[in-house]
Amino acid sequence: MDHDTAIVAEHLHKRYRSTVAVDGVSLRVRAGEVVGVLGANGAGKTTTVELIAGLRRPDAGRVRVLGLDPRRDRAALRQVLGVQLQQATVHHALTVDELIGLFRSFYPNPRSAGELLDLVDLTAQRRTRFEKLSGGQQQRLSIALALAGRPRVVILDELTTGLDPHARRRMQSAIEQLEHETVLLVSHAMDEVERLCDRVVLLDAGRIVADDTPAGLVSTVGAADLEEAFV
Ligand code: ATP
Repeated sequence: MDHDTAIVAEHLHKRYRSTVAVDGVSLRVRAGEVVGVLGANGAGKTTTVELIAGLRRPDAGRVRVLGLDPRRDRAALRQVLGVQLQQATVHHALTVDELIGLFRSFYPNPRSAGELLDLVDLTAQRRTRFEKLSGGQQQRLSIALALAGRPRVVILDELTTGLDPHARRRMQSAIEQLEHETVLLVSHAMDEVERLCDRVVLLDAGRIVADDTPAGLVSTVGAADLEEAFV
């Protein structure tokens, strides 16, 4: 893998019993690129990014993130990869401050707690326990936790789904501030993808059916068909 490539996925397949979730996905993401992953509910977006993050084992295919095998090189990968997932798996009795402190302690050169709180606009909630946060606040905290270690590669699954307009803008500008990071961003919102992404892959039934710039995708697939892909 050359230095210019951050993520390589080749011929990924994943099936859950009778459901084929990912059906031959190949994807290459250059270092510093922000790539959106779009598609209807059930298209295979979450499974694809979970395979890339090493959270699931593919039935077939190969993944490398910065040259590392996510299933084998877990400790090394944890230092360079930040993952925000749809379901936050954190200790619910800890406060925002405690969780941020815990995640910062995993890394040699973490972002400061103040920077992280500011990035996701949770300074006022810093002494609140995770379980007492609203769903949107929990989601914003999971983004801060993903960014705590200054990861070189960031995987965000539904950055802004369910957030109010103000919080959406805050999260999007947080991602815009990431200048050097490689980002893989699962989204349902075309305006978000147009704002943040250099490139978009469109998934349908576990396959990549388009791979283009946001503007190119709109002109080849058509705005109406894209609209259908997001709902
Ligand atoms: P959404 O937009 O709804 O989050 P998605 O594009 O992220 O959907 P996936 O969550 O990857 O899609 O799901 C792909 C397919 O695999 C769907 O048919 C889903 O029902 C199925 N699936 C996902 N996770 C599991 C699981 N743990 N067990 C069984 N089937 C699953």
